[in-house]
Amino acid sequence: MSYANLSNRPSLDHYWMPFTANRQFKAAPRMLVSAEGMHYVSDDGRPVLDGTAGLWCVNAGHGRRQITDAVARQLATLDYAPSFQMGHPLAFDFAERLARIAPGGAAAGLDRVFFTGSGSESVDTALKIAIAYQRAIGQGTRTRFIGRERGYHGVGFGGISVGGIVNNRRVFPQLPGVDHLRHTHDPARNAFAKGLPEHGAELADDLERLVALHGAETIAAVIVEPVAGSTGVLVPPKGYLERLREIATRHGILLIFDEVITGFGRLGAPFAVDYFGVVPDLVTTAKGLTNGVIPMGAVFVSRKVHDALMTGPEAAIELFHGYTYSGHPVACAAGIATLEIYEEEGLLTRAAELAGAWQDAIHALKGLPHVIDIRTIGLVAGIELESRPGAAGARAYNAFIDCFQNGVLIRVTGDIIALSPPLIAEPSHIDEIVTRLTAALRRVH
Ligand code: PMP
Repeated sequence: MSYANLSNRPSLDHYWMPFTANRQFKAAPRMLVSAEGMHYVSDDGRPVLDGTAGLWCVNAGHGRRQITDAVARQLATLDYAPSFQMGHPLAFDFAERLARIAPGGAAAGLDRVFFTGSGSESVDTALKIAIAYQRAIGQGTRTRFIGRERGYHGVGFGGISVGGIVNNRRVFPQLPGVDHLRHTHDPARNAFAKGLPEHGAELADDLERLVALHGAETIAAVIVEPVAGSTGVLVPPKGYLERLREIATRHGILLIFDEVITGFGRLGAPFAVDYFGVVPDLVTTAKGLTNGVIPMGAVFVSRKVHDALMTGPEAAIELFHGYTYSGHPVACAAGIATLEIYEEEGLLTRAAELAGAWQDAIHALKGLPHVIDIRTIGLVAGIELESRPGAAGARAYNAFIDCFQNGVLIRVTGDIIALSPPLIAEPSHIDEIVTRLTAALRRVH
């Protein structure tokens, strides 16, 4: 069905849009009707350059025939198979291929894969595996989690509890026993840092403080995004993740990296684990796993954790957990085709080639009205604007509308503009994003 004709627009009354000011949106809707390569097409027929890879997920660009053909073939072959007590070869095949590029390489041992349907499900899965692991090794008192302020780990009750987004926490009840590290954003010391900020590794010692407060014997795992994305691109200070790893190991606490955004090439290495050379015990992924084409997530689990749960009676279910859509055959087909594209086109490391030019282009926005900080790493950028008194987020939102009307899709979170184009971007696309954004920032003055 095509909605490319504006007169064909359906009623806006029934669809309750997620994370959207529905009433505001429905008064002035913005619709995308098709996509190819680096561009969307809006319902009034305009090309819109995708500066955000959809929602940080379309890493190989849009409309990839290799993926859509694989999906179509799979739909015609095996549309669905029960995920419990039954197998289909594609899930094993996809897991094996993922194991070959697993975070940290063979030495890290993160090559056991649990499939989920989304990033939120990956997070809840990782948290549950952490608890089950601690129990399996006789550490059943370890039921607490440590998250981080300004962390985003999806919308499940586990994810919002370990996350540190105030709005989430105000409305919904939280898992008991969760505490938080401070976030690492420190504009006083690190404003306009390029790549990893110099200052703040000592903030990892918050974990030591929380161990002293709660007792190591109560803490199952600590979870962080190596680079926090959705809360405004917070890049970890040099040495921070290493220190977190060291403290967690010393106290028998599992370390979980949430790589739903950073996974699959966003930083210029296959995973943040590879980029930083820091190896956690579990890694959550989704988004780029299937190029966003079919919903899917995956948790990479270390052999240590996996094997500890494989020691009970043989007929027993080792982990009482799973989803109807775990390892969905169509999602696996999309994922396998996606990995093939990543490998054939070198996309898992392409952001490293673009990063220098990207960083220079984005940092050239310094000096524009209200720009108070810029952060870049890999093919990601966060541009923070000074809050307008009494209208937090309004400037960034106006820039978003202005850019969309002028043919570039950016993303805003509060007063921060986040950029993360598909990894197939060419320098000309980077120029266009920066040119449009510059004009928009001048106008929202
Ligand atoms: N974790 C992180 C780090 C994310 O960025 C996101 C989504 N932006 C999620 C979890 C949740 O993923 P999903 O929306 O697929 O549930």
